[in-house]
Amino acid sequence: MKTFEELGVAPEILRAISEMGYENPMPVQEEVIPYLLGNNNEVIALAQTGTGKTAAFGLPILQQINVNQVQPQAIILCPTRELCLQIADDLNDYSKYMDKLKVLPVYGGSSIESQIRALQRGVHIVVATPGRLIDLINRKTVNLRSVKDVVLDEADEMLNMGFSESIDEILSYVPETRNMLLFSATMPAGIARITKKYMRNPHEIVIGKKNEGAKNVRHIYYMVNAKDKYLVLKRLGDYNPNIYGIIFCRTRKETQEIADALVKDGYNADSLHGDLSQAQRDYVMQRFRLRNINLLVATDVAARGLDVDDLTHVVNYGLPDDVESYIHRSGRTGRVGKTGTSIAIVHLKEKHKIREIEKIINKKFEQGTIPSGKQICEKQLFSFADKLEKVKVNEEEIQSIMPSIYRRLDWLGKEDVIKRLISLEFNRLIDYYQDAVDIEAPQEGGWKKQEKNSREKRGRERQDARTGSGRASEKGYTRLFINLGKTDGLGPQNVIGLLNDNVPGRKIVVGRIDLMKNFSFFEVKETDRNRVIQHLDGIKAFGRRIAVEQAMESPSEDRKKKIEQSHKKKAGNKK
Ligand code: AMP
Repeated sequence: MKTFEELGVAPEILRAISEMGYENPMPVQEEVIPYLLGNNNEVIALAQTGTGKTAAFGLPILQQINVNQVQPQAIILCPTRELCLQIADDLNDYSKYMDKLKVLPVYGGSSIESQIRALQRGVHIVVATPGRLIDLINRKTVNLRSVKDVVLDEADEMLNMGFSESIDEILSYVPETRNMLLFSATMPAGIARITKKYMRNPHEIVIGKKNEGAKNVRHIYYMVNAKDKYLVLKRLGDYNPNIYGIIFCRTRKETQEIADALVKDGYNADSLHGDLSQAQRDYVMQRFRLRNINLLVATDVAARGLDVDDLTHVVNYGLPDDVESYIHRSGRTGRVGKTGTSIAIVHLKEKHKIREIEKIINKKFEQGTIPSGKQICEKQLFSFADKLEKVKVNEEEIQSIMPSIYRRLDWLGKEDVIKRLISLEFNRLIDYYQDAVDIEAPQEGGWKKQEKNSREKRGRERQDARTGSGRASEKGYTRLFINLGKTDGLGPQNVIGLLNDNVPGRKIVVGRIDLMKNFSFFEVKETDRNRVIQHLDGIKAFGRRIAVEQAMESPSEDRKKKIEQSHKKKAGNKK
């Protein structure tokens, strides 16, 4: 392996990158840097994010800039604002000791005026999202006549996002003598079109095999019945106590629903999708980077700009339609020499997709077994014991207070202390899982039988839900009936809202919520039952008087009649 110096990197850049902890070049850098430092060399590099590609193109580009000519000499196009900022930041770090060198990120969603002012002051490298760059070109505020290098970073993503025409337009303003460098994680047909049209005789560099998933990523799939998907997600989260991962959903709605459900169930989760404002997205991403949340539920598009290198897991909450999206998703973990796991929670109908992906990534999926409640508790306890062993004890800080703590706990033996510590952390988890039945994986081949079974089971569940007696409440919780249901427009948030708005005193913790057509059930702590009934039963909400009562039995015949009458009356009023 060569050193950066041997690759030809200039001393002022060497100094900056060694301060950043770059000791040895990563494979893509070893290949690309010396090549680009030569003359008129164009490159197509098939490399996933996280392979070190920013430095691979960034260092040679920086090194070849003439700082005395204050005009854009290189443009770097990338799909998202976040990536744009990240690349500009990296280039600024690499050029810390290059006096006067100016890098400007330009991207949509922020003031164009300040970007225009910065361009007028003069820059050497423009990092841009295509749409905003076109806007600036149209306003004649950026001059690309001196551009020598054009980088298309995450080119496949740019095409996916519909930037193909914008790229064509931008390139029409750049001298034909420019060099083009194209970085992409996959090689769809659109890329071949670009390379054919715009590149002269590019050198093709493949880091890993073409379209191959990252080497150090394990791919595991869990085959589940559709209705169990969320329960399995929770189990997998609980089974991996140190999980730091992105859960990919297909739609914005699903993303929000899963994140809401996870938060309600006590996980450190949040959502990232296109319905959020840029400020909200920035806030969520910041919290995720700082690990204030460890589960980020995201759509493919929204997660693109997120630069987090040390994800332990990527979870596919259902498989994406195209294999490329799977490669991108799973490529978010196992970066920078670390190992990672890409989990797919799938149902039988998606099995063929697993086989398709395996062919492309050239790797087999392992079939995972859904962990049992007991396995989860054991795993959590051992992880806790591990943390207990490794925790850094700040002797000085706690020194003064320890004697009184010892005195206070003197009557407890060592075993008691450990048991209590564990109970403090895990009582809720253990209570939740102690009676949990194993989640059955669907039977392959037995379609008809399985359909029949699940129809019967669904019927049973509906019946159970109506009577409120079919499932045991979580320990310490009790199940209440409310005469509002989906036809009233009731959602989980409304149940929580009703409690927050009407029940004074300590906040009510809500357990499971089951929404039926005309009525619903929700769980609250046994100790809160009376308070909830007292303050909710009989109040007016959703246009009528609501009833809340203990859901031990099926709602009484009398109650059922009243509910029906009340719904009929309400429907009549609407007419
Ligand atoms: P990239 O693929 O450019 O997003 O880089 C992925 C991560 O690797 C970033 O956090 C870089 O700062 C880091 N990185 C890039 N090159 C090196 C290197 N030679 N040594 C150590 N870390 C690196």
